[in-house]
Amino acid sequence: MAKGKKNVRGIEPQKKVLKAVLKDVIKRAQGFADPHRVANGKKFSLKDHDPSRTGDLGNEDKPRSKEALAVGVGALAELQDVLYANREWSVLLIFQAMDAAGKDGAIKHVMSGVNPQGCQVASFKAPSSEDLDHDYLWRCQAQLPQRGRIGIFNRSYYEEVLVVKVHQGILQSQRLPQQLITSRIWQQRYEDIRAFEQHLVRNGTIIRKFFLHVSRKEQKRRFLSRLDDQSKNWKFSASDMKERGYWDAYAKAYEEMIRQTATPEAPWYVVPADNKWYTRVVVAAAVVEAIASLKLAYPVVDKTKLDELAEAKLMLTQEKV
Ligand code: ATP
Ligand code: MG
Repeated sequence: MAKGKKNVRGIEPQKKVLKAVLKDVIKRAQGFADPHRVANGKKFSLKDHDPSRTGDLGNEDKPRSKEALAVGVGALAELQDVLYANREWSVLLIFQAMDAAGKDGAIKHVMSGVNPQGCQVASFKAPSSEDLDHDYLWRCQAQLPQRGRIGIFNRSYYEEVLVVKVHQGILQSQRLPQQLITSRIWQQRYEDIRAFEQHLVRNGTIIRKFFLHVSRKEQKRRFLSRLDDQSKNWKFSASDMKERGYWDAYAKAYEEMIRQTATPEAPWYVVPADNKWYTRVVVAAAVVEAIASLKLAYPVVDKTKLDELAEAKLMLTQEKV
């Protein structure tokens, strides 16, 4: 049945309720997310984006932002339920960032209210030997969300134009035919990633990409706290320091990545990440807005199904137990 049509009872009760509850939340979500959305990368410059920005909110608004996050998380649970019931669309959320920018915390908090059955997280670290026996998209394709589900990529194929570009020696270990490693390889990767994402979009996956933008100064503060606080020691690895040494090269790679791959259908959100409470509100808002943009409603039950339900009810009420 076409979207918006009335069912045979002449009502769409769940849709009405959902609409009323969510309308305001969705509007507020737009207000948080839109300023950080990059849908056309052509003029993108990282220096226009302040990692310590907190929008219209000051530090004194932190409690209010927690409330906003809780509301967003609740709305997300509702939206995901409808997404799952429809089983047509899927949602792919990609997270990229320097170490200690807060990817894990953002994922944990934003998805905290979502039904685990409708959500899957994949973390991409250095590729395995089996991964390297295939093209670089292979391992990511295997983890794409099914229809009706939200898939989260904690790092992704974008590492192929980030860490691999910063440390070009990695290319040599990718088992690529030597003649394919040319000066054009980065342009080719951007092009292939754009085409891959377009393919996904054309087949019912909505894509939102998050670059959690932390400052060098804040990363230092977080590293120090990981070193000083025993309960956080496990979060620190020597390679974090090594990668910090390539800060400028990473910044350049991130900037170019966003220039080349921000599109209206698969936008990047450049999320200020020096204040975790703000990062989380923006990410939650962007995800709420993305799923809400599908304008989904619970599937409408047709006449045959309604007859089946009525018959089941009759049988149950006639039972003696
Ligand atoms: P956390 O530090 O919070 O546990 P993380 O995502 O930084 O999360 P790590 O195990 O520290 O996880 O790092 C994963 C590493 O794997 C990163 O340095 C990343 O650059 C690297 N990596 C991911 N994909 C690739 C790739 N395709 N080629 C080479 N290295 C990669
Ligand atoms: Mg790490």
